[in-house]
Amino acid sequence: MSMYRSLNLVMLGPPGSGKGTQAKFLSERYRIPHVSTGDMLREEVRNRTTLGLKAKEIMDQGGLVSDEIVSAMILKRLDQEDCARGVILDGYPRTVEQAHVLDGILAELGRALERVILVDVPDEEIVRRLGGRRSCPKCGKVYHLIYSPPADGVHCDVCGIELVQRDDDKEEVIRQRLIQYHEKTQPLVELYEQRGLLVEIDGSQDMEAVTAAIVDAIGASADQ
Ligand code: ADP
Ligand code: ADP
Ligand code: ZN
Repeated sequence: MSMYRSLNLVMLGPPGSGKGTQAKFLSERYRIPHVSTGDMLREEVRNRTTLGLKAKEIMDQGGLVSDEIVSAMILKRLDQEDCARGVILDGYPRTVEQAHVLDGILAELGRALERVILVDVPDEEIVRRLGGRRSCPKCGKVYHLIYSPPADGVHCDVCGIELVQRDDDKEEVIRQRLIQYHEKTQPLVELYEQRGLLVEIDGSQDMEAVTAAIVDAIGASADQ
């Protein structure tokens, strides 16, 4: 039995550092949902909702969608039944304002953050990772042309559909996203460090080594 009544984790780090990849591994290991605001926004874009159309314009320029919009999505999501045992938040919070909203939401639900995992990777490696990132338009599975290629190099292993590159994984947009990260998201590193929640992981290692370092930081007590 877990020591944690509910295990609430935040994945922090620059775009392309491997937050989503690690969040998926952790989600399976601890059997708690992977909640990604980027995935939720892309789903809105695919469904051509009003919110999605508005968000797409901002995302394609590498900007941040408004705090109100993403916080409303997170509030609704965390209140769902499957999140009762905890969540792995990926891509949220991304601003100090969002961090404060998250505090309020968790307090309301009678929960607290267990760890904030900073997956850090130098800027030049980020460009390599995002340049080679491809995903399945159907199931959303994420690949890398060199580091984690599909079996035939082109199609999703699960769906057999041709992989695509995200619209915002272009060089000019990547540069803008990095600027946004350093300006708006990096202040969260200090905020969570001061609270004693931050764990810094060297994200430039291979995927298995990164996972091992994170699991180690969360501690054996989180295992079922
Ligand atoms: P990355 O792979 O760069 O970490 P995500 O998939 O998390 O990207 O997010 C893609 C885009 O969605 C961001 O560049 C931003 O425009 C928007 N987005 C995602 N999460 C947030 C958030 N918490 N606040 C504002 N915008 C967000
Ligand atoms: P984020 O969610 O932080 O934007 P992703 O998890 O989507 O990042 O990873 C970005 C790209 O880098 C993907 O193509 C992924 O397959 C690849 N990747 C993730 N972690 C590693 C790693 N440790 N080593 C090499 N490539 C990685
Ligand atoms: Zn697929």
